[in-house]
Amino acid sequence: MRTLLVMIWLFLAAVSAGTVSARVQIPTTPVTVIKAGRLIDPETGTTATNQVIIIEGEKIKEVGANLAIPSGATVIDLSRLTVLPGLVDAHTHMALTYKEQPENNYYYLTYVMESSTLRAIQAASNGIQLLNSGFTVVRDVGNNAMYADTSLRQAIEQGWLPGPTVIPSGPIIGSTGGQLWPTPEMYKQHNIVFPEYIDADTPDEIVKAVRQNMLFGARTIKICVDCKPWGYSVDDIKLVIKEAAKGGCKVEGHVQTPEGAQRAIDAGIYIIAHGNALTPEHHRQMAEKGIFLTGTDTPFTKYRGSEAAFRQTVAKLRDAWEKKVPLTFSTDFDYWNDRMKNEKTGEWLSRGELTIAFLDTWKAANIPPRDILYAITINGYKAADIIKDRGPIKPGLFADMIAVSGNPLTDIDALRDVQFVMKNGMVFKKDGVMSPEKFFHPGPVRTPNGRWTR
Ligand SMILES: [Zn+2]
Repeated sequence: MRTLLVMIWLFLAAVSAGTVSARVQIPTTPVTVIKAGRLIDPETGTTATNQVIIIEGEKIKEVGANLAIPSGATVIDLSRLTVLPGLVDAHTHMALTYKEQPENNYYYLTYVMESSTLRAIQAASNGIQLLNSGFTVVRDVGNNAMYADTSLRQAIEQGWLPGPTVIPSGPIIGSTGGQLWPTPEMYKQHNIVFPEYIDADTPDEIVKAVRQNMLFGARTIKICVDCKPWGYSVDDIKLVIKEAAKGGCKVEGHVQTPEGAQRAIDAGIYIIAHGNALTPEHHRQMAEKGIFLTGTDTPFTKYRGSEAAFRQTVAKLRDAWEKKVPLTFSTDFDYWNDRMKNEKTGEWLSRGELTIAFLDTWKAANIPPRDILYAITINGYKAADIIKDRGPIKPGLFADMIAVSGNPLTDIDALRDVQFVMKNGMVFKKDGVMSPEKFFHPGPVRTPNGRWTR
């Protein structure tokens, strides 16, 4: 007994002296060093060679030539590649995939036939596919079932699975009917418009809808400006902007008529979605006011579009660029068909590959690679309102970056073959192969209390 007490005393003494605790593993912040053969700054359109990027944990610590490599750091040699910030799709719908069968491309039926839970899993898969193609940020703006978009953002943020930084809008807010034309019985007896749209007609309803979306995790607010002849007035849109600002959200307006575009511009909206209804005069005003355009510029491919529609899309994008509208790369991607295959290999194209294929439209509009790169990075971060936290490869920001073989400043198609992806300082893809194991956790490793971070 006496011996035991002595041993316990010796043990406690050792603990207090630190001799035992020194053997306990104390987690240290991992340091990763990237050696970049070329490093592009899309803000200035310049390239620096042989750069070293030091990453501590999730954030960039230092960037420069000839930096000393800290001992114990993991070194990733990308000296044969071009490193650049991650890409942004500024308007997409990861939790919606309408098809030729069975819904005949009619997305109204997708709402009825596919559950929110199924669509949330589709969104998670699409997020992984997009990250694999270099998209580290996605604005996901509605038609996402019952808040599948905000749930996906929360799941990625907590560390359950890999995916881009999601800027979700929650359901689109609109005046009666949203973008749908439901039957009286489906509308009145089954509330069919929700959750794809929230009906908000009066100022009180508008305020409530905006607040509820923010309560449930929206980081941006999406409205239908003119989906119906009784769409939102300038004052309605101003009210949305004012209320959204209280929760730190900017507003994007779906616009499909020239009149609606003018009301959105007059109200001082942050982003106008879809370029089809915009005139050169709208472009001029948007440039003057600094209103972002998510043009959703669909290319003409074997699986989508028509030549006539493509010609118009290209002409509108070209005019917007000439007038210096703040352009973003955006797709409105929310569909699938069985022609979506690589013509050479016959293999299915991923959601990421289908997304980056929208470069075709930008090339057809003869927009210089430097400006396309600016749109798909810098303006994307600004439209997503995250540029102070992530995007540019600068000290203090989250370590998100990609690497490609060629130089996208001279050949934008280099972006189609992303070899390396890092998100929050963790390697998601290397040597062209996904290796995302570290992103999958059996529990929440960040924001464990479930509260939204701002
Ligand atoms: Zn859309």
